[in-house]
Order: sequence, then structure tokens, then C-alpha cells
Amino acid sequence: DTPSPDRATEDRATADLDLESLEAAHAALRAQDLSLDLTRGKPSPDQLALSDRLDGILAGAYRHDGTDLRNYGGIDGLPAAKRLGAVLMDVPAEAVLVGGNASLEMMFHAMLVGTHFGWDGPESAWANRPSVKVICPVPGYDRHFTVSERLAHEMVPVPMLDDGPDMDVVESIVADDPDVAAMWLVPKHSNPTGAICSDEVVTRIAALGNRARRGFRIIWDNAYAVHDLTPDPIPMASLWAACEEAGTTESVIHVASTSKITFAGAGLSFLAAGPDTLTALRQHLSAVTIGPDKVNQQRHVMLLPDIDALRAHMARHAALVAPKVDATTASLEEGLTGLARWTTPRGGYFVSLWTPPGLATEVVGLAADAGVRLTPAGAAFPLGHDPEDSHIRLAPSFPTLEEVRQAMDVVVTCVRLAIARRRAA
Ligand code: PLP
Repeated sequence: DTPSPDRATEDRATADLDLESLEAAHAALRAQDLSLDLTRGKPSPDQLALSDRLDGILAGAYRHDGTDLRNYGGIDGLPAAKRLGAVLMDVPAEAVLVGGNASLEMMFHAMLVGTHFGWDGPESAWANRPSVKVICPVPGYDRHFTVSERLAHEMVPVPMLDDGPDMDVVESIVADDPDVAAMWLVPKHSNPTGAICSDEVVTRIAALGNRARRGFRIIWDNAYAVHDLTPDPIPMASLWAACEEAGTTESVIHVASTSKITFAGAGLSFLAAGPDTLTALRQHLSAVTIGPDKVNQQRHVMLLPDIDALRAHMARHAALVAPKVDATTASLEEGLTGLARWTTPRGGYFVSLWTPPGLATEVVGLAADAGVRLTPAGAAFPLGHDPEDSHIRLAPSFPTLEEVRQAMDVVVTCVRLAIARRRAA
């Protein structure tokens, strides 16, 4: 991300702020009666349309390799769908389970098994410990934290750096605290800071399984594995290979989905894990469903038959998303240089903005007054609490490019106004 402005630049930028004209600008924006939304990282309608061919692609071919796709069964998923998951997650196909439309559901079930049923039977359930501590890199994905809140985990925040979580902190927590049960992580184009785990971080993550108490699991949520906004794909070291080398394959649960590839509400989710973990999850999921939607699996396999088709499809997404992300960071650069810092992501769906401490809630409120909805301040932290009240997650994918520009004018004005008000107070 951009470095924090140095003192002199900050003083110069702040001196340029004129409270009266910023109040007038804000009043003028309010009078425009805007209704814009930068809250959720949803694909836009034109992104969804890239996959409209899914409808009708089977052309009545409901039988595949002797399987009637319309009928019950097949808890693992079709072999070809497992291969698609394997490509996405960079894991062997035999380690993959294919689920319904939401990887969040797979993650919830995985955390439920660890917490209440145990990876090695009820005795091993994390809930038998005095507390169930879960490491949460922050800023992070709010819905991970909601899962942990629901399962009464104690969330332990750890700073997310540009190359992944602060591993010195993670390693010392895992070594010192026997109650640490799990860790959430979005390893590539992370939600919301766009961080990408470096090779070193991948190796250190793989080694955690040897440092931690039995039952420890990392949820490696690779939701943005192929969502590069750059012309060339951005590689990331294989965690599966690193775990094989470290002998820790059972310590990681890999997940991904096609939510931001095909239809967000009607895609496929994938989970991969070591053989024992997979057996426990398969057994659990067999109590939840008689089998996933194989019709949709086959539709996806036909739309995305190989890595080249997947890459070409993702390049079409990038052509739609990148201009919006660029417009977002361009607005920030134009209006907030010297006053705030932000990320310039190379993929994924989000830009993180850090206002001076103590102003994020006020900025979100000022933007709402001017008709622009922003994700609540603090949303990217466990229990919605940003101790600095500084971070705001911007999600520009859904609105049109023109709406992104309009909304960002409002955001910039609101940050400038909040700083000017504080200076005047
Ligand atoms: N994981 C991350 C990091 C996300 O950002 C999102 C959606 O925003 C999801 C998971 C949700 O994925 P799914 O639609 O597969 O449940």
C-alpha cells in the first residue's frame, strides 16, 4: 500500500484544507440526492453476463460417464469438477470435494467440525478446551469473523502485511498458546487489502502445523486465486507442496469457489484437505446433504473446460473490474495524497483506505449523508471493532464506472471534510 504520509507532506496537505469550502462542497453533494453503493464486493451485471452461456449449455445432455446428473448422490463431486477445483486451488484433484454455491458454507462446516465434532472424534473437539482461539489477520474478511463469532471463538487479531500475515506474531501465538485452534487467511488478493502471500510466508504457514497443538487447522480461503487484474497471471507458491514437504498436509483446509468467476449466487464451491481431514468432512457433509448439484458442476466444466478457458474468462473479468479499481485509486491519489493511505491492488475486489486515526466512522457517516453507502467502519475487524477507527473497505466492482467516479468524489470530499473539522475543533 501507499506509505503513510510523512509529517511535512501531511502538514502541507492539511494546510490546504479549507473548512468552509469543504462544508459547502458536502452540502452541494447532499443536495444532489445521490444513491450510490460501495459496500459489497459483488460482480457487476456485465461480469455476470460473461457466464450467461451456462444457461442451456448442457442442451439436455444430463448423462455423463454413466451418471445421471439429475439424480441424488456423488458427495465428492464429478471427477471433472474436482479437476476444476484442483486447478483453482493448486492441489491434487483427489483431495477435492465439490460443494454448493457458497464456499462460506464449506468453511462454516469445517469450523463446525473442528469446534464441536472434532477431527479425531468428540474428545478432540476444540470446544473441550478452556477457550477456542482463532487467529484473524486484520483487516480481514468480515464473514470469516461472523462464522467465528457464531461458533463462540475467541478471535485473536494479527496484522496483515503486504506479503501476508505478520508471521513473527502468528508463530509466537501458536508456540505460546495451546488453545489456538485455527487461523483464517485469504492468501491472494486478500479481502480487503489485496495482500499476496510471499514464498516465505507460504513456507512458514506450512510449518505452523508442526508447531501447533493437534487439531490446528488453517482455513486457506483462496477466493481470489485467479482474479488478477494484471495482463499476466500473478503466481503464488503452492501451499499444498510446501505442506507435503513439511509433513503438515492435514493442517490446512483449502477453499475456493466460482462465485467471482461465473454466477455469484449459482456457482460451485470447492474444499481440499489431507486424507484424514477430508474423511471427517465427507462424513459430516453426508449428514447435511445427499449430494451436491451435479447439473451445475457439469455446466461449469463445459464453460471452463481447461486452464486456458479459465484464464481467458478471467481476462474478460479483469477488463471490466480493472478500470473501476483504477478510478478508485486515481481519485484517492488526486484528493487524499498526504492525508491518508490506501492500497493499489493487483487483483481481487477491494481497495483499503486508512483515514487518519479516529475518523473512519465519521467519514462513513458523512458519505451516507451525501447518498454514498460505504461498508461500516470496523467491518474488517473481529466484532466490527477497528481499534484505530481508521480503515474503510471500498468495493468498486458493482457500480458502473461513472458511478464509481461519482462515489469516490464523495468519499474524498468526506475524508477531507472530516480532517478539516478535526483541525478546526
Ligand atoms: N471468501 C472471501 C475472501 C470473499 O471475499 C468472499 C466473498 O466476498 C467469499 C469467500 C464468499 O465466497 P462464496 O460466495 O463462495 O461463499
